[in-house]
Amino acid sequence: MAFSDLGLSEQVLRAVSDAGYAEPTPIQRDAIPVVLTGRDMLGCAQTGTGKTASFTLPMIDVLAAGQAKARMPRSLILEPTRELAAQVADNFELYGKYCKLSKALLIGGESLNEQAKVLDRGVDVLIATPGRLIDIFERGRVLLNDVRILVIDEADRMLDMGFIPDVERIASLVSRLRQTLLFSATMPPEIRRLANAFLTNPKEITVAPPATPAENVHQGLLLVKGTDRRASGTSNYKLKRAALRELLGQEEVKNALVFCNRKRDVGILCRSLQRHGFNAAQLHGDMPQSARMETLDAFKQDKVTLLVCSDVAARGLDIKGMSHVFNFDVPTHPEDYIHRIGRTGRAGQKGRAFTLALPEDSRYVASIEKLIGGQIARIAVPGTGGEVPDEAPPETEGRRRSRSKPSTKKDARKRPRDSARSRRDEEQKEPESPVRGLGNHVPAFLLRDPMSGKKMR
Ligand code: AMP
Repeated sequence: MAFSDLGLSEQVLRAVSDAGYAEPTPIQRDAIPVVLTGRDMLGCAQTGTGKTASFTLPMIDVLAAGQAKARMPRSLILEPTRELAAQVADNFELYGKYCKLSKALLIGGESLNEQAKVLDRGVDVLIATPGRLIDIFERGRVLLNDVRILVIDEADRMLDMGFIPDVERIASLVSRLRQTLLFSATMPPEIRRLANAFLTNPKEITVAPPATPAENVHQGLLLVKGTDRRASGTSNYKLKRAALRELLGQEEVKNALVFCNRKRDVGILCRSLQRHGFNAAQLHGDMPQSARMETLDAFKQDKVTLLVCSDVAARGLDIKGMSHVFNFDVPTHPEDYIHRIGRTGRAGQKGRAFTLALPEDSRYVASIEKLIGGQIARIAVPGTGGEVPDEAPPETEGRRRSRSKPSTKKDARKRPRDSARSRRDEEQKEPESPVRGLGNHVPAFLLRDPMSGKKMR
């Protein structure tokens, strides 16, 4: 089937042809005609399947007739993260280049006033994260009565992030005469409930069985033996960092996402990799939006090789030709494993995904394997069986290969400060175990003499 068989306008077809797409993907083939007829749709599809174009392309045509009023967007797309929202906005830019559509992006981390000003001019498409939209709504800067198409994208991720109450509130503010499209990679009962509440007689489209990992991804699991820290003085995180470096040294890494489960570990691992001479940057939800966008751009332009990230920040990132995904931590939700490894092996290319697991991760590994219906191949990497290789081992052929860039002056500055002190500092900063009470911190008032107010020794 060709794009021209789907009922899209000549302008949209021209933009699709400029994008170089030869034929529609299965979700596009099934969804585009449904969206054009105005029917509600429940799409079970992962990112990487062409899902975004499956709703943006027909929306451009549906919205072509009509005029937006000030503060009253004509369509609304909800995305769980700022990056995904920005990506969808880019899609409208790309596919809508021969049409006159106005759009606005409402995402946290950027000036609320500036974003609201765009709404004042009237927009056809509003792409927003739920929290920021509610914020702007409560300030009276946007009205949702005129929204004719509502898209709830990545619904299962919205659920994971606790956004469902916000989504429900927003959906109840939008006119009942709307068309609603809901996309989710998986269909847990809560998403079914949401669909039943907000969709009317939807056409259900499932393009790949949920929880099927991308076929083009070679997967491996590296068991890191772990150690009793008190006995050996070595932490499991240190062992995992050493194991990751070994793995990076063995693999032909062009560019990779390295996932951590916790935000605070993202920074620690990133700094550790940089100290060992890897071209790494970090991406997590606590970074200012401008820094997130800058880092992402640098990664997309191959200026950064390893992007250490959290699930939230990297969800749905569409980066072409990414060679690897590394799970520094085993994801605790098995669905996250699918999402993570699906960042590679996109658009028919081959990808490689490796997961580092400690003995205590065995139940998470088991639930991932249950979900994907098979065992992940165990791999052996010399030097990772529980003993720690030297912190800065001599340069090996493999290691040199995996280093991102030829050494430039700028890179050289990123080389390890090979002092024992800097490594010690890093280890000391690492939160190995949860901080209880005030941890090592003693509040200043406890150190003062209550009578004199002077500092006690
Ligand atoms: P998505 O699932 O929306 O994240 O899209 C994944 C990637 O597939 C994006 O980079 C799109 O540019 C690309 N893409 C979307 N539709 C097609 C198509 N029909 N043919 C080839 N690539 C496509």
